[in-house]
Amino acid sequence: MFAHLPARVSIYEVSPRDGLQNESSPIPIEGKRRLVEALVAAGLTRIELTSFVSPRWVPQLADAETLASLVTPPAGVTLSALCPNAKGFERARAAGLPEVAVFMSASETHNKKNTNKTIAQSLETFREIVEPALVAGVRVRAYVSTVWGCPYEGEVSAERALEIAQELLGLGCYQVSLGDTIGVGTPLQTRRICELFLRNVPAERLALHLHDTRGTALANALVGLELGIRDFDSSVAGVGGCPYAPGAAGNLATEDLVYMLEGMGIETGVDLEKLVEAGRVAEAVIGRRLPGKVHQAGVPTLRS
Ligand code: MG
Repeated sequence: MFAHLPARVSIYEVSPRDGLQNESSPIPIEGKRRLVEALVAAGLTRIELTSFVSPRWVPQLADAETLASLVTPPAGVTLSALCPNAKGFERARAAGLPEVAVFMSASETHNKKNTNKTIAQSLETFREIVEPALVAGVRVRAYVSTVWGCPYEGEVSAERALEIAQELLGLGCYQVSLGDTIGVGTPLQTRRICELFLRNVPAERLALHLHDTRGTALANALVGLELGIRDFDSSVAGVGGCPYAPGAAGNLATEDLVYMLEGMGIETGVDLEKLVEAGRVAEAVIGRRLPGKVHQAGVPTLRS
């Protein structure tokens, strides 16, 4: 058991974007800036800052340009932003971000409801982002959501998800993050999905974006880890509920992931105590109790 654990894992922090976009009451920009600075202070080096979607879609992130201008990341920290289309990419580029992310679903119905595009149309749209991005020296990451299951279609074909991921990598995306968007995955299913992907895609071009809606995120992460995945998305204090289960947990909490990894001797570059502080900033900024387990329980003092 645990024969193939890595020495180090890379964490992609999604709380300022994926987390906050689910919050219905507006969060002051100063609070967002404080959150990002606390995440940087904790040692996170890859942070998704915001989204350049239409403010009509996501009013919470209408301050994208201003936030990008307020936050100056230190050397070694990469800020990225979600871009739904060429217009969004132009805004991200004008804001000076070195990395952007595109997003789509592995299931046709979810993609249509979430982006108002077919899967084929999403891939066509991303061509208009990735080509100019690469010319401008901007890296592009991709999300494929609903890989473990779709809120509308139920089961999703892992083979279809793989085809989509390969198209995205073929366009020039440097990494595809596979999402358990509704948090239904179990370890055996995760093993099947990861094994299929890893037979076809180099591990460094894959990440897992796991949700803890039903308490299985860390178990799924451990399966991915053992199979060779080295990149995980997470959100401090578990910010960002499940959009399809109001009140339930969504994103895997970064503290929970870091606690497990560091406790197993796997380096994350993140200071857990400072990360817990960042989680407290998130809770103060959002103004309600957040679901992360380490966030709630704290860091035990018995460990040496
Ligand atoms: Mg998420």
